[in-house]
Amino acid sequence: MGSVLIRNVLLLTMNPQREVFDAGAVVIEDDTIAYAGSEPNPLSRCDEIIDGQGGILMPGMVNAHTHAAMVAFRSLADDVPDRLQRYIFPLEKKLVDRRLVAAASRYAIAEMLLGGVTAFCDMYYFEDETAKVAKDIGIRAVLGETVINFPSPDSPVPYGGLEYCARFIPQWKGDALITPAVAPHAIYSVDAPHLQECSRLAKRFGTPLTIHLAEMDYETEQCLKQHNMTPVRYLDSLKILDDACIAAHVINADAQDIELIKARKTGVSHNPGANAKGAKGVAPAAEMYRQGIKIGLGTDGPMSGNTLDVLTQISLTGKIHKLYHHDRALFPAVELVEMGTLGGARALGLDRLIGSIEAGKKADLVLLETESFNMRPRYDPYSVIAYSANPGNVDSVWVNGNAAVRSGKLASADSTKIKYDFSALQAEIREYLKNCG
Ligand SMILES: [Zn+2]
Repeated sequence: MGSVLIRNVLLLTMNPQREVFDAGAVVIEDDTIAYAGSEPNPLSRCDEIIDGQGGILMPGMVNAHTHAAMVAFRSLADDVPDRLQRYIFPLEKKLVDRRLVAAASRYAIAEMLLGGVTAFCDMYYFEDETAKVAKDIGIRAVLGETVINFPSPDSPVPYGGLEYCARFIPQWKGDALITPAVAPHAIYSVDAPHLQECSRLAKRFGTPLTIHLAEMDYETEQCLKQHNMTPVRYLDSLKILDDACIAAHVINADAQDIELIKARKTGVSHNPGANAKGAKGVAPAAEMYRQGIKIGLGTDGPMSGNTLDVLTQISLTGKIHKLYHHDRALFPAVELVEMGTLGGARALGLDRLIGSIEAGKKADLVLLETESFNMRPRYDPYSVIAYSANPGNVDSVWVNGNAAVRSGKLASADSTKIKYDFSALQAEIREYLKNCG
């Protein structure tokens, strides 16, 4: 890979001092950031010099919770109540196979990279297909194979995901980009013995465990009725809430739940777009952030949140919580950008590698162009990112030192082919739906 100098950028490091360099530069050596700071004079000798043309260079954004391959079903049944049981599960059972997961994951990953996402945490089926595609295009990923209490697209028996995990995890463990994980779907769709088995498996392999938690109103009602505990306390009673656990949503959590999540060092993915669209409520994200919980931002699946970029979630997080709490000062832009970058890295347990632009960390970077009308003036770059940028402003993306996007175009894969293969899938899904009436 050699060395690359990216110069002439407004460098937003997200380092512990939150340093910003107006005339900044970064040197990448192979997969690692070798230098980040003011533009050196004279310029360092590098194999390649890239002129950032005054754009904003920021850490790669982290999508802390999604179901990437679900993009195949995006825009179906968007405004229907109880979609999960009535639509999503039956549709997946019929249509999800290896080919769908590979083609749809490829499409979703391309969309994420083009929107400035350099790492994501997934929960779906046939995660080995998503792993192959992620590795091929070049994106960092924590990939959780779903464990659920009914026969699933990749298992003829309930809880077959456990066996799938036992095969999938050793295949990918130790990879530079892929972290395999165990993904029990939720406490209402996985019983206690199987939740514990998921936890044992994750511990045995030393991998993360990711789960939907305290998301649904019926989940809390059932849990209180059956166990006389909130979902968070129930998961803790099973010894699953720990620092390798990544909990998605955490909407219905009280002060004691938040204390527990903090004490156990559990990661949280806050998914404001999907929560708002699904009318699920406002998660206590502000309280969790104040407590120093490892909290990042996620899109949820493209059937739930529809978009896959983190810029949109950064903006929504600010607006929803300011509005909900009647507090304009809540979540200043710097904190919002932190949640979309370093916060997500912490939630996924990857902050030693990524999340900020510092020498020694892996080179996961995003360059936002500031030539577009919506990107000027840029008195406060955090405000530009949080309140006026959109995924169309992403100019370049590097993951692990490799250029994945250049000049707003996918550089590490063929966009035309990805769209062509995805169109073929859509035609088949349309045909199936027509036949179903
Ligand atoms: Zn989800």
